[in-house]
Parts: sequence; structure tokens; C-alpha cells
Amino acid sequence: MSQGHTQLKWRLARMLNLTGVSPLLVAAENWRHRGSIRAINCHATPAAYRDTFERQLEYFQQHYCDCTLDDLTAFMNTGRWDKPKPGLIITFDDGLASNYRVARYLLEQYGFTGWFFLPTQFLSTPPSEQPEFCEDHIIYVGHELRDPEARERLAMTWDEARTLARKHVIGSHTRWHCRMLPSLPEERLRDEIFSSRRILEEQLGVPIRVYCWVGGEAGTYNPTAARLIREAGYEFAFVTTSAPILPGHDPYQLHRTNVEPNWEIDQVRFQLSGLVDFLHRKKRREVASLTGSRSS
Ligand SMILES: [Zn+2]
Repeated sequence: MSQGHTQLKWRLARMLNLTGVSPLLVAAENWRHRGSIRAINCHATPAAYRDTFERQLEYFQQHYCDCTLDDLTAFMNTGRWDKPKPGLIITFDDGLASNYRVARYLLEQYGFTGWFFLPTQFLSTPPSEQPEFCEDHIIYVGHELRDPEARERLAMTWDEARTLARKHVIGSHTRWHCRMLPSLPEERLRDEIFSSRRILEEQLGVPIRVYCWVGGEAGTYNPTAARLIREAGYEFAFVTTSAPILPGHDPYQLHRTNVEPNWEIDQVRFQLSGLVDFLHRKKRREVASLTGSRSS
């Protein structure tokens, strides 16, 4: 989205919030989908974002219930969501140190499970080479470089990932933060999808059941990768195609809506109001056809 479009979108978000439209839309959306789950995706959570992220968690606590991996599994198997409010899956892409340092504590304070999707090679890269890794593999670090601690290290360590794995969900985000471009040979896709799972399981000592596609832009989904994700033994795959996850949904196309931790509540409300889902309907159909998904 261009900068002009983004500014326009946030101006609209503020207006809809002030006029009471987006709070109403969110309430209607959550009532309509009370037996469903919403997944959101975010990236960096440096100390500079702590206050906005905490306000978001307060907001999420009022409108959603936590969703663990067991909750998602049960929902997928039965199509039933018995908690009083819709489920919320908060996902963090890219294995950033700030997710461990800042987000983890706040999530636990507010009773939410974090779903952390890690590119394994990023965690194994020496700290001095991590800024270059981010640049080469398009990892967004937010204000990280302004935090003195973050200057030393951008990725979480394997020890930190092991600590997270005890209470939270860890999933694969490929080895090299690899966008699954149609031009990539199958062997490369296989390595990204299979090896990342094996490495995570060896390092963390827990089964890895969740995969998350990298990038999410059009052109970063492909049918060979979709087949390999199933073959590798993952049970769930997340995409970035904004919509609620409804009963009977395909576990290999779990929609996520982008909500960054430095956004104010009017922006969060706008993202969750159903309007963004509407704008994503064409992309959902495209991704569903590319990944062989049965729902869009
Ligand atoms: Zn990513």
C-alpha cells in the first residue's frame, strides 16, 4: 500500500472511530462471528511500542478470549467455540528479540498466548550479521535499532525460543525468511519447509505443528509449497488474507489481519471492523486457488 493510501486509510479510521461507526462495526462483527476465531499478525515490539501494545491488550481482553493451540485444534475438529467471546490468536512473525523482551511479558500479564513464527537461520545468525540478514531477507525491525539493547542483537536466541516454547506456540517461518516465489526450484522450497521444522524440533524439543507463509504479498504463495507444507507434517498454515476463521475452515489457510503493536486503538478497530476483510476478498480467492485451499 502506498504512503498516500495508508494516510488516507488512517484518516478514515480516525473518522469512523470518532463518529462511533467502527466501534459499532466491531461489536456487530464480533456478535456475528461469536463462535469463531480472529488471528492477527504483528512484527517488532521494541520498548518504544510498549504503551500502545499494552493498550491493545486491554482492548483485546474486553472483546476476545485467548486461543491456545489446543483451543484451535478443538475448534478445527468440532467447529465449536464455547468461550463467551470470539477467540483471538496473536501472532508474531520473524523471531525478533523484542518479541521476547517486551511482548512476552505483556502477553502473560494479560493472559494471552503468543504465537511466534521463527525463520530458523535468523536465530542462528551471529548478532553482528543480523542487521544485514534483515536487509537481505526483508525483516522489519521497527524502532529496534534505537533501543540500546537491540543494537547488540535483533533476533531472539535459541534459549529465549526454548523459554517461549514452554508457555506459547512456536511455528515455522521457513529457514531464510523465504518468500515462496513461483520461480524457486522445488528443492529450495523443500529445504525451507522441511528443514525449518526439523531444526525447530531439534532445538526446542517440542513438536512443530504450525507453519506461517512469509511475506503475504501476491506472488508469494505457490501450489508446490502448499503441497510440501502438508507433506512435511504441519497441521496448520497461516496466511495474510484478513478474515475471521469460521467453523469448518481449511486449516491450511488460516487468515490473519495485520495489526502492528504501535498502532492506536482507532487503527486496531478499523482493522477488525470487517472493512479490511471486505477489501481482501479478491486476494483470499487468489490465495485459496494457489494453495489448493477449500475455503476462501
Ligand atoms: Zn516474516
